[in-house]
Amino acid sequence: MTDLPVVSVKGQELLTQFGLTPKAPPVIDASMLSTFMDCPSKFYLRYVLGLRPRRKDPSKDGNLDWGTCWHETMFAFMEAREGMLKERMVAGLQALEEHYPTYLTPDVDKMKRSKDRMIQQFFGYAKQWIPKEGNYEILRNEQYFDVLGESGLRWCGRMDSLRRVIRNGKIRVWDYKSTKAMGPTYFDQFEVSFQFPGYVWATSQMMTDDVYEITVDVMYTISKDLPPEKTYFERTFRYDAARLVEWESNVHMTVDRILGMLDKYLYQPEMWAKNWGDCTRYGKCRFFVVHSLNPRGQGRLLELRDNFEVSRWDPSAVAGEETDQ
Ligand code: SF4
Repeated sequence: MTDLPVVSVKGQELLTQFGLTPKAPPVIDASMLSTFMDCPSKFYLRYVLGLRPRRKDPSKDGNLDWGTCWHETMFAFMEAREGMLKERMVAGLQALEEHYPTYLTPDVDKMKRSKDRMIQQFFGYAKQWIPKEGNYEILRNEQYFDVLGESGLRWCGRMDSLRRVIRNGKIRVWDYKSTKAMGPTYFDQFEVSFQFPGYVWATSQMMTDDVYEITVDVMYTISKDLPPEKTYFERTFRYDAARLVEWESNVHMTVDRILGMLDKYLYQPEMWAKNWGDCTRYGKCRFFVVHSLNPRGQGRLLELRDNFEVSRWDPSAVAGEETDQ
């Protein structure tokens, strides 16, 4: 296995030549931790150098925009919960109208997604949600958090919703997802993620209640119409106190490793290991092209100039923020 330098063995001098400034991220969040665990080099490229692959077409990212529109629709529908059903549906439809990516039409999309399709899915969702809504008291929709635990762990992010389960009075985190890849292992990725126990842990820090549960509420879309029982899926995960302690200690350990690397190797990209085994996971890693070119040639420089932009992720900003600094 060849382990080519990411940018160059010459460290700072060549980072300067490439116009790249390494900076430690202001705070580490769940996506950064997962990226570091998958591939430390990718973490360095994305979160330390701040490199973000440009969208092939800057105005188009079907999966992201479809998911954002679904989140906004759900938010508006749930925020209007004091109103009559008709008013709530109108609120959801207005949000859908405002956020639908108009370029996403069946002519260009393999999944045949369209605004009509999302409207249809919204009606389908409301129909199956309303009969069970009385099982929950909605406490907050869109909860931003930036909490500091007793152990010194700082954790930031945004949760879709916090609810009280009427049956037992317990608080539950609620997370909306949309996917075009549902399968028997779909939910496994969440259970062992940094994100889900992190939401539960942060909620228990913010509230006086003990919090142990999170529900993922998924809208599934493929190219053909599905009956409601194959379109909406819910799964609830429980993280008891011992699992949360384990999560916190894992996070501390990984954050410490990252901070140690940042301390020693901020200007040495070649010291951040490359996990070649993950390059093809979820489609080819867009950073591959930077790695595979001759590090001393102009090709990599051109790739960086043409296909990447500097955009730093700050999870501690409200709503999370990208900057070009
Ligand atoms: S191409 Fe592979 S080794 Fe390079 S950053 Fe991506 S996952 Fe890591």
